[in-house]
Amino acid sequence: MKLKNYYHKKINIGFVLMLLFILILILIYFFSFNSYKQRIEDIKSAAIKGFNNEYSITLSIYSEMSDSLFSTIINNTEVLDLFYKGITSEKLEQQNLYRNLLYSSLLPMYNEIIKYNFRQLHFHTDKNISFLRFHKPGRFGDDLTGVRFSVEYVNRFKESIAGFEEGRIYNGYRFVYPLQKDGIHIGTVEISTSMLAIITILSDRFNIPSQFILRKDIMDMKVFESEQSNYIEWPLDSRFVLDKEISMKYPDSFVYDFDFKEEIIKCLDLCNYDPFAVYHNSWENNTMILVLPILNFENEVVGYLLSYRTYNELKLNKQSFLTVSGSILSLFIIMVIFGVYYYKSQKKIKKSADFDYLTDIYMRRVLIERLDVEIERYKRYKSIFSIILFDVDKFKNINDTFGHSYGDYVLKEITKSIKSKIRKSDTFGRYGGEEFILILPETSLANAAIVAEEIRITIENLKLNTVGRVTISSGVQEFNSENKDSLTLIYNADEKLYKAKELGRNRVVF
Ligand code: GH3
Ligand code: MG
Ligand code: MG
Repeated sequence: MKLKNYYHKKINIGFVLMLLFILILILIYFFSFNSYKQRIEDIKSAAIKGFNNEYSITLSIYSEMSDSLFSTIINNTEVLDLFYKGITSEKLEQQNLYRNLLYSSLLPMYNEIIKYNFRQLHFHTDKNISFLRFHKPGRFGDDLTGVRFSVEYVNRFKESIAGFEEGRIYNGYRFVYPLQKDGIHIGTVEISTSMLAIITILSDRFNIPSQFILRKDIMDMKVFESEQSNYIEWPLDSRFVLDKEISMKYPDSFVYDFDFKEEIIKCLDLCNYDPFAVYHNSWENNTMILVLPILNFENEVVGYLLSYRTYNELKLNKQSFLTVSGSILSLFIIMVIFGVYYYKSQKKIKKSADFDYLTDIYMRRVLIERLDVEIERYKRYKSIFSIILFDVDKFKNINDTFGHSYGDYVLKEITKSIKSKIRKSDTFGRYGGEEFILILPETSLANAAIVAEEIRITIENLKLNTVGRVTISSGVQEFNSENKDSLTLIYNADEKLYKAKELGRNRVVF
């Protein structure tokens, strides 16, 4: 009993330790998975921040250039005079004369600035009427009220404004300044650049391929019908259009190369005011699509600036997560192998402690333990039981004639044969040498005798190599109040066995 408890305890400690270890492994896995996910988020926000910065720097280049153009070349008496005379002339010919004079005086500057991707130089009256478009000098006199927020704003508040705005012909970044003559507000001038300029700097200077998509509904609403051919539908999503000029110079093929086009489209929610990154997490992909919403003066998202970049950190992050999870998996497998090995070896130790090495049936100690249990049951529940004590007849002769190892073979064959005859609830064991005990729970003396006789016949008929035949003698004893304990019970069975031997062997006495 002591030995049994000892093994039982040991398995439990091993099992608990293993569970603890596996729990720690699971915790480490979750921790590293979390930091892996967090790292992706960090890379994403750093990417967005970086793109936003590059975009802002690019914009500020144009804004500063434009400010200096206005203060050095445009905002001077000669230019203001021509503009003022033009807008105040009553006669059309005179108006045209001053318009032409203004045009020719600033044309050299205009030709120069378009080389730097400026697009427009546009004068308006204080009533938002177009006076002179350098990019289309023949088109003037149209009212921009309700169309050009920037011009209206500057005419109303008499202060300059800068930002993105969709227009009748072009979309772009407008820098609009108030014009004053002798302290009186007389109109506005707009210097503007296109999205192409921004994309050119991003691509050529920062080496960031990017593309601008404009909301189609904005284009439909704002752009002159005759100018709508400057735009083409964005192949990924018909809600957007591309500026032909930009897409010819910088094809946005990078967007179409990605497997996660659907995800990009899903993210282009028109209400999204914050820059975001679209990242498709897969083993091969280390590239993010970065998206900056472009807002107009009225704080409305009119389109998006898209870009992409490959991040080595994404790859390193995956690699380190894979290393950690691979190590965890290896430790887990080692733990499982160790656990199985441990369990098996414990089982083996337990088995070798309970079973006889030669016949692989219970040892004497186990038989006594079982008998004690049966006696306990008898005392408590009055459940009867019997035992059969077998002994091989003239076994010494077999040993002497054929050798000890042949004797071993005979013992093995006999136990095998008996084992096949008994019930699962019976306990069969080697009591010593060539003597065996079979414990039969819930079995009376008469029934046990029948079993003993069946076994005797089985062994008598058992065909063995060389010796041919062996017999056994048995003593059958039912437990009763006179037996007291297991040893007395066995003693009584042995008495009957002795009688069987005396009576000529190969028989059952009960
Ligand atoms: P009986 O009919 O009166 O029982 O005669 P017996 O020869 O069987 O009885 P005895 O007690 O004189 O001899 C038993 C023999 O069994 C003696 C011993 O050497 C042998 N023996 C005991 N254990 C083993 C064993 O594990 N292997 C072998 N081969 N022989 C064993
Ligand atoms: Mg014997
Ligand atoms: Mg014998």
